[in-house]
Amino acid sequence: MRLSRYFLPVLKENPAEAQIVSHRYMLRAGMIKQQAAGIYSWLPLGFRVLRRIEEIVHQEQIRAGHIPLLMPTLQPADLWRESGRYDDYGQEMLRIKDRHDRDMLYGPTNEEMITDIFRAHVNSYKDLPLTLYHIQWKFRDEVRPRFGVMRGREFLMKDGYNFDVDRDAALHAYNRHMVSYLRTYERMGLTAIPMRAASGPIGGDNTHEFLVLAQTGESEVFYDDRVTGLKLGQRDIDYDDRAQVAAVCEEFTTLYARTDETHDPAVFDQIPEAHRKVGRGIEVGQIFYFGTKYSEAMGATVVTADGSRVPVEMGSHGIGVSRLLGAIIEASHDDKGIIWPEGVTPFPVGIVNLKQGDGATDAACESIYKALAAKGLEALYDDRDERAGAKFATMDLIGLPWRITVGPRGLAAGKVELTCRRTGASEEMSAEAAVDRVAAIYAGR
Ligand code: ATP
Ligand code: MG
Repeated sequence: MRLSRYFLPVLKENPAEAQIVSHRYMLRAGMIKQQAAGIYSWLPLGFRVLRRIEEIVHQEQIRAGHIPLLMPTLQPADLWRESGRYDDYGQEMLRIKDRHDRDMLYGPTNEEMITDIFRAHVNSYKDLPLTLYHIQWKFRDEVRPRFGVMRGREFLMKDGYNFDVDRDAALHAYNRHMVSYLRTYERMGLTAIPMRAASGPIGGDNTHEFLVLAQTGESEVFYDDRVTGLKLGQRDIDYDDRAQVAAVCEEFTTLYARTDETHDPAVFDQIPEAHRKVGRGIEVGQIFYFGTKYSEAMGATVVTADGSRVPVEMGSHGIGVSRLLGAIIEASHDDKGIIWPEGVTPFPVGIVNLKQGDGATDAACESIYKALAAKGLEALYDDRDERAGAKFATMDLIGLPWRITVGPRGLAAGKVELTCRRTGASEEMSAEAAVDRVAAIYAGR
């Protein structure tokens, strides 16, 4: 993408309404525009990151054996009357009437609808296990929408629902979600700690929230800091292997990590003082096992191997896709701007032309741009007629992990400069070497 032809409305001034750094940088980098309280347009740069995050979520769900579908944003109230939640949900639910005076709502979540799909089409244990998920916009009329996309009213969520014949199988589905979530967040460059949580309006007893540590997080968290060193890395996981998946969950949930809702000071105090930490965290996901709560209320049953009919065992599992942009920025930035992890960056690399209009410099930039494209990498090429300082400031603000700088002086010696956004370290090398280095960094992503 050539910046001269792109739509990147960066702001020079700090927007007054933004209280936290991620909100500030998302506005300044031209990623989002507020349209009403807690409702945003996704401008091109923000939209690219949102799509990238969605893609990682899809890949990891599919790897775990979960099946994508798409349910609507609008739902009939009658489904929610069956579960009893139409009255229970309260003011967070946006209620709408259609022209025939029928009660509708903008879905805050989809347990009822997925249970309705299940009961219409599945009848036998032979069709289980089954996990269906979608990535769809939700609406919750939050009392205090704030912090930009972190607490929106309209927000994008991945929500998945497992259907299993018995409790053991459902607990395996729960564990499978935990592991797939750990892998998802790691690919985004995040450390998200599973913490035992208290169940909310969705109900159920087995539930963990995933928290990214950040000063600006809305939840108070208590943890043994050795938990932040746990990584899945490249290990091979067979998602059908119950024992292996359970062992990974145990590894990641044995050290103490709780939100204020489940915090137990007596247990916490036994952690060696050097490792005992109190901090704040951003909830980027939650998994629930709730058994037959919805299937009993809505008549979703299956015939078992011995011929009896039982309500299906269920759980639901959510990832805050749009909130993740804020969480990633909170966890990865400096005073100049965002520092995107390579896994989610809107463009893998930026090219800065220090002397636009100079024949040799323009030609070198073009050739780097094309060589990157030939390797499947779409660079953001700053080909504007601007001062070098302004170009660097834009690149630093929007946070691309790598930058190739091309100027007449370097070119005379056959060199360009490759700069790492995170460390600020620069290295001079030939244009070909810079292209190869960037390609090697992104190989396999
Ligand atoms: P919270 O406690 O932050 O209000 P929740 O527990 O009500 O969230 P869930 O029902 O667990 O939310 O939804 C799954 C995920 O969706 C959450 O973990 C969070 O990342 C995201 N999410 C929830 N509410 C919002 C919101 N208002 N704006 C953006 N993301 C949200
Ligand atoms: Mg939650």
